[in-house]
Amino acid sequence: MSTPALRIGLFSIFPDLLEHYLNETLLGRARRQGLLELSCFNLRDGADDARRSVDDSPFGGGAGMVLAPEPVFAAVERADPPRPIYAMSPSGRPFSQRVAEELAARSGFSLLCGRYEGIDQRVIDELCDGEISIGDYVLAGGELAALVVVESVCRLIPGVLGNDESSGEESFSEGLLEYPHYTRPAVFRERSVPDVLRSGDHAKVAAWRYAASLDKTLRIRPDLIAARGGLKAAEVRALVNHGYPLPASAAGLEPGDDFTRDAASSEERDQQ
Ligand code: SAH
Repeated sequence: MSTPALRIGLFSIFPDLLEHYLNETLLGRARRQGLLELSCFNLRDGADDARRSVDDSPFGGGAGMVLAPEPVFAAVERADPPRPIYAMSPSGRPFSQRVAEELAARSGFSLLCGRYEGIDQRVIDELCDGEISIGDYVLAGGELAALVVVESVCRLIPGVLGNDESSGEESFSEGLLEYPHYTRPAVFRERSVPDVLRSGDHAKVAAWRYAASLDKTLRIRPDLIAARGGLKAAEVRALVNHGYPLPASAAGLEPGDDFTRDAASSEERDQQ
């Protein structure tokens, strides 16, 4: 087997839970092919007491337990996993497709899954290189968050998805949501697939998909349109040409005018 394209170390008190997920689907196949080296380590292997305890009560009082520094340091130092090491935490850097791309460009990294009330701060400060959050909500543990990161990073590695083109045109890759997909039958419960998709004209299909992608993003995530600097004149034309509504504030634009950031504010769209 050749050297893996990406190595990831995962630390958790539930390594079997992670293994189980990572052995199935495309990730499991890529692991078996040697494309990915995903190693799950048990934090309890760093504990030296008979009960293999990894948690203790918080200094200063309060509810819940905290993952203690000794077992976490010991487990990580023993495993000598790929660096950098990130702790999964609601206080971390927000995870996004951009961060996934950054991580996929590395040769490896490791993720530390917290439990209970969280992880002793000295682990974060001294052992970890940063923290990653998968969103503004609180999970009971870092395992699901780590799997979210692993899956979205690994599917960017060439060869992991069945078809290497699959990850190129997706949601967020150009700051837009992806266009809608359709498969057979062409008519289902009286709802038909857009005619253009059955025309066989690749340029027309591409133009429709781009307009559909713009329309969907404007409706669902106008903040993404604003973040890429608003709609360009060519994009306004693409929407109009395909019969999609424009945001109210785009009315009165002269040909060649760009429909800019402010015009795409969600407030105005909500009033439509
Ligand atoms: N008391 C903490 C939450 C602890 S939840 C707080 O208020 O911030 C227990 C563990 O679940 C955390 O240590 C972290 O590893 C994981 N976790 C919970 N929510 C997460 C999120 N949104 N992103 C990443 N990890 C999360």
